[in-house]
Amino acid sequence: MNDKRINPFFAPYATPHDTVPFDKIRLEDFEEAFMEGIRRDNEQIDKTINNPAKPTFDNTIIDKEEDKENYYDLLERVSTVFFNLLSAETNDELDALAQKIQPILTQHANDVRLNERLFWRIKYVHQHHRKLTPEEKMLLENTYQGFVRSGALLDAEGKEKLRRLTEEASMLSLQFSQNLLKENKAFTLEITDESQLDGLPDTAREAAAQAWKEAKGEQQTADGQKGWLFTLDFPSYSPFMTYSTQRELRRQMYMARNTEGTHDNSENNLEICKRLVNLRREIAQLLGYKTYADYVLVRRMASNTRGVYKLLNDLIDAYKPTAICEREELKKMAQRMEGKDFEMMPWDSSFYSHKLQLKKYNIDGEMLRPYFELSRVIDGVFGLANRLYGITFRENKDIPVYHPDVKAYEVFDRDGSYLAVFYADFHPRKGKQAGAWMTEYQGQFIDRKGENVRPHVSVVMNLSKPTDEKPALLTLGEVETFLHEFGHSLHGMFANTRFESLSGTNVWWDFVELPSQFMENYSIEKEFLRTFAFHYQTGEPLPDELINRIVRSRNFMVASACLRQVSFGLLDMAYYTQRQEFTDDIIPFEKKAWKKAILGKQLPDTCMTTQFSHIMAGGYAAGYYSYKWAEVLDADAFSVFKKHGIFDQATAQSFRDNILSRGGTEHPMTLYKRFRGGEPTIDALLKRNGIKRTKASKK
Ligand SMILES: [Zn+2]
Repeated sequence: MNDKRINPFFAPYATPHDTVPFDKIRLEDFEEAFMEGIRRDNEQIDKTINNPAKPTFDNTIIDKEEDKENYYDLLERVSTVFFNLLSAETNDELDALAQKIQPILTQHANDVRLNERLFWRIKYVHQHHRKLTPEEKMLLENTYQGFVRSGALLDAEGKEKLRRLTEEASMLSLQFSQNLLKENKAFTLEITDESQLDGLPDTAREAAAQAWKEAKGEQQTADGQKGWLFTLDFPSYSPFMTYSTQRELRRQMYMARNTEGTHDNSENNLEICKRLVNLRREIAQLLGYKTYADYVLVRRMASNTRGVYKLLNDLIDAYKPTAICEREELKKMAQRMEGKDFEMMPWDSSFYSHKLQLKKYNIDGEMLRPYFELSRVIDGVFGLANRLYGITFRENKDIPVYHPDVKAYEVFDRDGSYLAVFYADFHPRKGKQAGAWMTEYQGQFIDRKGENVRPHVSVVMNLSKPTDEKPALLTLGEVETFLHEFGHSLHGMFANTRFESLSGTNVWWDFVELPSQFMENYSIEKEFLRTFAFHYQTGEPLPDELINRIVRSRNFMVASACLRQVSFGLLDMAYYTQRQEFTDDIIPFEKKAWKKAILGKQLPDTCMTTQFSHIMAGGYAAGYYSYKWAEVLDADAFSVFKKHGIFDQATAQSFRDNILSRGGTEHPMTLYKRFRGGEPTIDALLKRNGIKRTKASKK
């Protein structure tokens, strides 16, 4: 019997809605399916390039896209399940398999991208094609650019140069991260005098005591010695900077963290940063762009460097006056506590901010938990989707799941028709990555027979768990996280496009956070909170007075926080708009690059660049602005709802029709303008943040 078993990836799933049969998949099935998937992929490509007919859009571009009748989608089918499980429910065997498979997949992707005969056909179609729909045009452009941006138009020498530059950049990115990690671990603050813990909350003390015990081992602790260890990792560093009354220790911590990668040792990142900036410029110039930012932004909603600088400068103009006032208020507060001669230093900001915040709003995140019991929050979020879009959720226990904690729902549209499958995986456990994300096990597309294949979306989170005594009680931040990921999942569930690669969340980078951040707006709307925020024991609604304080406290120091983000955006752009070889010294260059957005004194030795992983090692090079960009968009979009009512169904329908269902089928600005009637402005964000434009900032 056993040897007759069929690898479940090779057969129809035979489950409700063709959902993944998690209960039937065995570890060995993955590798077999990957190998067979690659073989079929290559077979398909051979068929395309050997086609004697003239290349056309249909026989070259969409062959693979639409041929999903359970044969050629195998590689995608297995990859989706494998990589989703690798994040949400992994183990040593799966990790080991990933190590083995990843290079094979990279090699395969490179082989496809370097296939000259395939590119020749794509290029031919790009030059001579029939009249295409906007969606077809987008697919063609994406396909073509995918090759071109990998160097397909270069001659052999150029291709070789690109390969060398790319390899060096990825090697240096890795080294940058490794150096940073080492630097981070190299510094610890050890305290053995308990009085030096003054101000720190119990949770921070306990974690530090634990860290000290681990560092010292059993021996020392057996002697009854006590100690506390603080590190530069955020969960240790941040409470220390916020609560410790020991100014000199705060200074030591601050300086250690803000000089990482600048020391005279083998972990120095200064030259690496310089080289990375130059490598990326060379890559962009080899591909025909003036700067790396030009290369990146041509495929972003912001379009070009002008669009990015306009955003950053508008924000500086609008927020700077308020930021100056915030700083003054903070300084006064500190001087009242410490005396008139007190001079604020960077290691003082978090400490006095916290004091000021307590004084002004008397708010604490823990106060809200009893009102956010998970099952009620789920009802609230599903209820919101129902009020806006008329969709309903029904749990279906026949849908297989990869862990007993995961819930699977069928989602139905307003008219009762089946819309999607929605998986929800709420709590942390071993084998699950930290953080929260939305993903898909099946993307939406329309197959050759015209059938609309509906998506299977999943949200994976690490929300507070229930205990023996209490149900799962969330913080407001966790409610926001749920709304955020749920927003991404609506983007997936409402998808209604022809091609899967343009469907749902497959949109340009600075557009993808609009649907998610948009939903976060609801977290502080009274009308919404009233639908589900009841005390889990008494059933009392969340008091209005508390909501009001939350709302007001959210804009505490908002202008300073904005300028900080803008300063990072300016720094990022300063590096990636270089046209010639970059030879400046990093530290002074940095101070100059973001000067416009910095209010306090700049210290001569500190450096952000050497620890700015986002733009040096991560994928945010020439993209850091997108955090603010997305905020502008979500505030602007939500302002339409504020105007017509936050549950207004007509506005929701327009948001669904013009944005959520359209994926990446057209330029995001085109889609957005159809919903909004014009381009986004920063006005709604200013209003939300309580920023009044001064005369000077009104141009
Ligand atoms: Zn997101």
